[in-house]
Amino acid sequence: MMGERRVQQEALFYEFSLERHVPEKHLLRSIDRYVELDGLRQELAPFYSEMGRPSIDPELLIRMLIVGYCFGIRSERRLCEEVHLNLAYRWFCGLGLDGEVPDHSTFSKNRHGRFRNSDLLRRLFETVLQRCIDEDLVGGEGFAVDASLIQADASDRTRVEGTAGLPPGSAGRAVEEYLGVLDDAAFGAATEVTPKFIAPADPATRWTAAHRGPAFFAYSANYLIDTDHAIIVDVEATTAIRQAETTAAKRMVERSITRFDLYPERLIGDTAYGTAEMLNWLVNEQGIEPHIPVFDKSQHTDGTFSREDFAYDHKRDCYICPAGKELRQRQKIYRVPRPLVDEDGMMRYRASKLDCESCSLKPQCCPKAPARKIPRSIHEGARDMARDIAKTEGYRTSRCQRKKVEMLFAHLKRILKLDRLRLRGPNGARDEFHLAATAQNLRKLAMLIPMPTPTSAT
Ligand code: SF4
Repeated sequence: MMGERRVQQEALFYEFSLERHVPEKHLLRSIDRYVELDGLRQELAPFYSEMGRPSIDPELLIRMLIVGYCFGIRSERRLCEEVHLNLAYRWFCGLGLDGEVPDHSTFSKNRHGRFRNSDLLRRLFETVLQRCIDEDLVGGEGFAVDASLIQADASDRTRVEGTAGLPPGSAGRAVEEYLGVLDDAAFGAATEVTPKFIAPADPATRWTAAHRGPAFFAYSANYLIDTDHAIIVDVEATTAIRQAETTAAKRMVERSITRFDLYPERLIGDTAYGTAEMLNWLVNEQGIEPHIPVFDKSQHTDGTFSREDFAYDHKRDCYICPAGKELRQRQKIYRVPRPLVDEDGMMRYRASKLDCESCSLKPQCCPKAPARKIPRSIHEGARDMARDIAKTEGYRTSRCQRKKVEMLFAHLKRILKLDRLRLRGPNGARDEFHLAATAQNLRKLAMLIPMPTPTSAT
């Protein structure tokens, strides 16, 4: 016999427990174990007035944001609708079945006020990271660093020529923030090169075609991760340019040392971090092994000898060429002595013209010059160390571990749907990256530490 549902939806009284309706294995149950917001409430307290109507509980807003970034719901309007309808979201946010969900405008008011003034989202990220450290998920020996371009909320249809500068009358929060970071090495001071185009709606973004596809306006999300379990140890927003990314890498390493006493033995990165200056900072200032390919333009592709064909003799401070001759720093004697280091931080080692003229290897060495010249960076010692490390077995392992950061960026874009920013300005990018990194660490905690199996009642 065909059944028929006979349910009275208008029933007056229900006996309903949210707790019973959220599955034991729901991701939010697992995450809830690691969300501790008591300390944050105390930090926020000075930003609230002691008089007047009670505000919306900041813990509710933070929990809603965590839900949003864990499940890729970044529109605050949609987040409010989802929390209203979804029982598990209600449970996580501490709302009853008829608990009122705040209006979406509450988020922007708090974000531009108390949350930024108290640096709340940074504190939230650090609280979750501390929990990861307490759970022994951060080894602190090997760190990997990388950056990924995230499209900015800036239309390329309204772009203006970089040489023309910002149109007169440009105003708004993003413009104010842009002016505030002009001297910051992670933004305006990262390069002296004028960008091809500027986005008047968000001028701190950078016009970039780094993916070898169509160019677009973007920020860089910089991650520093611990390679044991791919926990994000630090996160930083910068303009989308390589120099800014190395600045961010230094800031993140320094912060992990000062804030959490995490002193890595090695740092893994790609060629973008292999500049002489960065390698010198790692080796000589921080004592960290660079598992990074050296950024080296000395490789010759025309069949002539490259610099690696010349051996450096530390004792005699000279290079030995394939014909066994010495290349020294100075061949001529000037009346006014010249500095040995050029303005670009390079020392030039030159072969003797006499040696080269009579050398049978000249066509393979310097066919168009009277004598061979080899530039050597003042940081070449650090570069040599990176080259030596690149020949070890440990380096091969590091290459594999570096993929963990790339996987986090793939997760960020595909699962958390952060392939385009919703907020504008450096602070908007910073807020979004901090929330996304917090969500990724919380999901990792939930995945690595399973929920205890409930014991059956006896
Ligand atoms: S050309 Fe000069 S530098 Fe090159 S191999 Fe011969 S002697 Fe050495």
